[in-house]
Amino acid sequence: MTLEASPPSALPDDTIAAVATAIAPGEGSVAIVRISGPEAEAIGCRLFVAPGDQSWESHRVLYGHVCDPASGERVDEALLLLMRAPRSFTRETVVELHCHGGLICVQRVLELVLASGARRALPGEFSQRAFLNGRLDLTRAEAISELVTARSRRAAQLAMAGLDGGLQERIAFLRERLLDQLAELEARVDFEEDLPPLDGPAVAHQLQDVQAALEQLVADGQRGQLLREGLKVAIVGRPNVGKSSLLNLLSRSERAIVTDLPGTTRDLVESELVLQGVPITLLDTAGIRTTSDRVEQIGIERSRAALQAADAVMLLFDLSAGWCAEDQALRDLVPEAVPLVVVGNKADCLARTNEPTAQADVCISALTGAGQDDLVQQLLCRCGHSDPQGVQQALNRRQQDLAAAAAASLGASLEAARQELPWDFWTIDLRAAVRALGEITGKEVSEAVLDRVFSRFCIGK
Ligand code: GDP
Repeated sequence: MTLEASPPSALPDDTIAAVATAIAPGEGSVAIVRISGPEAEAIGCRLFVAPGDQSWESHRVLYGHVCDPASGERVDEALLLLMRAPRSFTRETVVELHCHGGLICVQRVLELVLASGARRALPGEFSQRAFLNGRLDLTRAEAISELVTARSRRAAQLAMAGLDGGLQERIAFLRERLLDQLAELEARVDFEEDLPPLDGPAVAHQLQDVQAALEQLVADGQRGQLLREGLKVAIVGRPNVGKSSLLNLLSRSERAIVTDLPGTTRDLVESELVLQGVPITLLDTAGIRTTSDRVEQIGIERSRAALQAADAVMLLFDLSAGWCAEDQALRDLVPEAVPLVVVGNKADCLARTNEPTAQADVCISALTGAGQDDLVQQLLCRCGHSDPQGVQQALNRRQQDLAAAAAASLGASLEAARQELPWDFWTIDLRAAVRALGEITGKEVSEAVLDRVFSRFCIGK
């Protein structure tokens, strides 16, 4: 059947190279230049000088120097690892040069490799070759990329689950079930009178089953999205309500890993932390202090900037001072569609002040840490993710879109069934569903789609 066509792309026949490790000045003691393709071994031979009688064999590490063949200059002391096809990540012959880290040596080594006939690899091109050569299916290739870019332990676990292939197998199994039904239906379209009659309701039942399974996968995928992509959360509030203290509290919590990033907006501080497995970027307007009339205005502008960039907002107010007009003004700035948690802070002062807490969704004390878990729970819950921990496997966005499209196509097929239309009306949408599922695993996928998928990977992967 034409639907079983394998990936259409022609197999690549050139040699590519890239730095496979992170490049940072003064950092990383080792950097790897990776070369893959038919010329990889020849390029390695040309540039690498190994002293003594080390034997040039596959899957063996050689010690030596990378030398400029034109001048004989030693560019770096390095290790060379040769992996002859097909026993490599790409199933092509791969040579890795393990050089010293930093910026200069590794770039010079890469330049020599490129001058010797390799082409600079595009982002994800090594993985693309692994896929084209049948080493990886598409969901596993995507899982590797997700593993590399994971921002929390839970996100990495989710990526590992994808790498184990469970998702691929589930999708492939659902697709097979649809193909079975499609084959029966198509046979009836052409040879109705030669075949035993087809049980329409039984076919419809199968389609319904697969549709429900796909809808469940999409729902799980959406929950997993939070673990993968995280949330941008703005903390806003009047000066002195305790924004910095809350930020410090969350940053100190055992479950949080904090790195400070330079703010993307001039007046915002961004901090990266992980709360209950979810990577969170906090957009912080702390530091706003009313030292002049103008500053108040700037404070509002900063809050606006934070609110525009945020997926969710924590609005802090001081319980000991009570809810005031300025708090309400900030509340009114929060767009309707953005999930909001109103946080009453300084709960430890409440016994003394007896202020009403009607405005607060949650009461905390940034000083003592009381109410912290409740706050995080409320925040995740309002973003529609009450139990991100419960997700074991999750389709990524591309896969979710395709699974949802397949489920919708099955809905159209089922409508044809309900109206008792002729078989060929059932098959049109059923074919579309099969095709969409094939696109998830890479069984049926165009070159353009592949290029788009792999271009999101990092260079050297
Ligand atoms: P910001 O201007 O909103 O960032 O507020 P800060 O975090 O700098 O806090 C202002 C003041 O309130 C500081 O003196 C904090 O120690 C104090 N503060 C913050 N949170 C609490 C709290 O939960 N309880 C009490 N009693 N004081 C707090």
